[in-house]
Amino acid sequence: MYTHIDTEIIDALKAIVGERGVVTDPDTMQPYSHDEFALAEIAHMPEVVVKPADVEQVAEILKLASQKSIPVTPRGGATGLCGGCVPSLGGISLSLERMTRVVEIDTANQMAVVEAGVSLSDFYTAVEEAGLYFPPHPGDEGAMIGGLIATNAGGARAVKYGVIRNYIRGLEVVLPTGEIIRPGGKLMKSSTGYNLVNLIIGAEGTLGVVTQAVIQLMPKPAVTRSLIIPYDDLQSAIDTVPDIIQAKIQPLAVEFLPREVVTITEKMLNQSWPCSVGTTYLLIILDAPSEAEMDKLSEAVAGVCLDHEALDVFVADSPQKQEQVLGIRSKIYEAIKDHNIETLDIVVPRAEIARHVARIQEVQGEHGLWLPTYGHAADGNVHTHIMSARLEGGEIVPLPEEEWKPRLEKVRAELYRDCRERGGMISGEHGIGLVKKPYLSYVLSPEEIALMRRIKQAFDPQGIMNPDKIF
Ligand SMILES: Cc1cc2nc3c(=O)[nH]c(=O)nc-3n(C[C@H](O)[C@H](O)[C@H](O)COP(=O)(O)OP(=O)(O)OC[C@H]3O[C@@H](n4cnc5c(N)ncnc54)[C@H](O)[C@@H]3O)c2cc1C
Repeated sequence: MYTHIDTEIIDALKAIVGERGVVTDPDTMQPYSHDEFALAEIAHMPEVVVKPADVEQVAEILKLASQKSIPVTPRGGATGLCGGCVPSLGGISLSLERMTRVVEIDTANQMAVVEAGVSLSDFYTAVEEAGLYFPPHPGDEGAMIGGLIATNAGGARAVKYGVIRNYIRGLEVVLPTGEIIRPGGKLMKSSTGYNLVNLIIGAEGTLGVVTQAVIQLMPKPAVTRSLIIPYDDLQSAIDTVPDIIQAKIQPLAVEFLPREVVTITEKMLNQSWPCSVGTTYLLIILDAPSEAEMDKLSEAVAGVCLDHEALDVFVADSPQKQEQVLGIRSKIYEAIKDHNIETLDIVVPRAEIARHVARIQEVQGEHGLWLPTYGHAADGNVHTHIMSARLEGGEIVPLPEEEWKPRLEKVRAELYRDCRERGGMISGEHGIGLVKKPYLSYVLSPEEIALMRRIKQAFDPQGIMNPDKIF
């Protein structure tokens, strides 16, 4: 059904983007065959990597791909965790890496206009230089704006300020047929027809290529503070969270972290976490308009935690202390990554999180795989890592493939079943991509999936746009 890339197509692509925008050398293309998902078996080489420099070039590429029936897989920073940018049917890997312009930071409207290839890290820098603030903070700053939009990324700060979707006001998108649309704009509201902006956000590049975005910014909070709260058991830690929310406190972030992964990360970084008691921590980040307000807020949070048998409350109030704590938190993934097979991204109603985590611990015992779990406790989004290892006396003990492989599918299915029973979804922020595809029907009805397929068909009648993903 799809056309393979031949020399005629390569020449046509070079005519659109120039010689340096087309890569066919296998060694140079190899990094474009995968994202951050660990198992090499899902990797697939593109037939060509194409790097457009502007929206017109993207439109020309898609017109050609549409005419010739060539699969096109958009690619951002490739930090995705479910194989979304893997060109699993070959064809074109369309990399946005050359579209890195911060077009405008409009301080009067508090909006940024940026191209899809701007990295999250460069975006923060540009926003900060303009004296403004972009609240969402997905964990890998190598992600690009287009990828963040395509996955509707979240991150720790979503509790108070929401996810990427809440900040995208307008888009420039190239449809699979090559037309350019610009839904939305520098607008705080719009009730004008179907909301195409929101349809594209989270569509994982299956409906079109995002080339530019209008992003809402806000003033920077005056004061932020991190509290580290140790507990002797996970249940008490997690049970604290609904009570913090019920006390009408809106933290910026509430993360729960088992001691074991913190210790492994401390060792890797040769740095120390501010407290050594307890087996589980809550890391609560607060923001407030003044130091006095912050003191009140911190006391209120500490009170709720101590009522739930917290062992202590440690405060990181200076920028250095906060940096150290957040630095350790952000490196946990790196510390365990070598033995991580898959990072799950289940989201459950937040009142269910303690019961879901209890079930994860049972499954860990039943199947004998280490399942370190941490995540965004206050929005119900839990990242369970299915490891090809056991943890013994604080040390990671790798397991041979024949031991972990047969258990992988069972563990995944058990946890997805638990997620469904609690009214959850199999992805809170990473997307479905390739690897969660078989489980979509666990949580969506046949009618919902059929409607999604009809939407896909309306946008992409040829089926060239990131085919093989989501469904
Ligand atoms: C250490 C680590 C921490 C992470 N922490 C978080 C976190 O806290 N929160 C979170 O939400 N995620 C997190 N992630 C996952 C990942 O960073 C996000 O999914 C991110 O949004 C992916 O962006 P990317 O540019 O790397 O996209 P890619 O991986 O390149 O692509 C992801 C998807 O977007 C599509 N896509 C990319 N660019 C475009 C475009 N311009 N137009 C249309 N479609 C496009 C791709 O086809 C693919 O389907 C983490 C990942 C790592 C490795």
